[in-house]
Amino acid sequence: MSDMLEVDDIEVRYGAIRALKGVSFTVKEGEVVALLGANGAGKTTTQKTVSGMLRPVHGEIRLDGLRIDGVPAHELINLGICHVPEGRRVFPTMSVAENLEMGAFRFKKPDEKVLARVLELFPRLQERYKQLAGTLSGGEQQMLAIGRALMGKPRLLLLDEPSMGLAPLVVQQIFDIIREINDSGVTVLLVEQNAAQALAIANRGYVLETGEIVLSGSGEKLLSDDRIRAAYLGEE
Ligand code: ATP
Repeated sequence: MSDMLEVDDIEVRYGAIRALKGVSFTVKEGEVVALLGANGAGKTTTQKTVSGMLRPVHGEIRLDGLRIDGVPAHELINLGICHVPEGRRVFPTMSVAENLEMGAFRFKKPDEKVLARVLELFPRLQERYKQLAGTLSGGEQQMLAIGRALMGKPRLLLLDEPSMGLAPLVVQQIFDIIREINDSGVTVLLVEQNAAQALAIANRGYVLETGEIVLSGSGEKLLSDDRIRAAYLGEE
């Protein structure tokens, strides 16, 4: 498998704050890669930089070998990078159907086959099709946010804390669906605080600490690493 995404020594600042201090990692075509770390470690900043919402002051990001750092988010969508940001951000006063349609905005019209696939992955969205998104439960809004991103036919899907604030059963459903999405050929970069569940579906993971990668390896290796178990899995 070749590297689809290469993040090479990126530094990102918020004014005087150096949020990322030279972060490097790769994502190969077909992988699920997890970015783990405590609050404020720089996970969201990393994803926002890959999705074009932030610009690194140093370093490079490449997609299929071509530089994409500094390319704005709306252009990256045309290259197949779709981002589901933290907090879901569905359009609350639009219906489920309209939200899904918005996800296909880069095409002349939504692809019916993709829509059928999204509704098959998320039967709940089919049941709530005409309902306003703002009236959905948290789990349903997360499903809608992911479904909307899939309508853009991503090659690389960026998911920021998809399990945040959801009940354990719903979290499990969301992770199962992420696995299924990946099985159907979409590469996934997953930001999570829920390390155990993220690593269970990830091929590889990277651990961020105060803007630097301190540990990386296969999902299995990280799951059995004592430092990970102590820091993120609540074990001594
Ligand atoms: P969380 O899980 O809380 O989202 P995170 O690992 O995603 O944490 P980031 O949100 O990327 O971390 O934050 C990295 C650092 O950058 C933190 O120190 C944070 O306080 C700082 N930071 C993030 N956003 C801004 C901003 N808009 N302005 C200033 N500093 C920011």
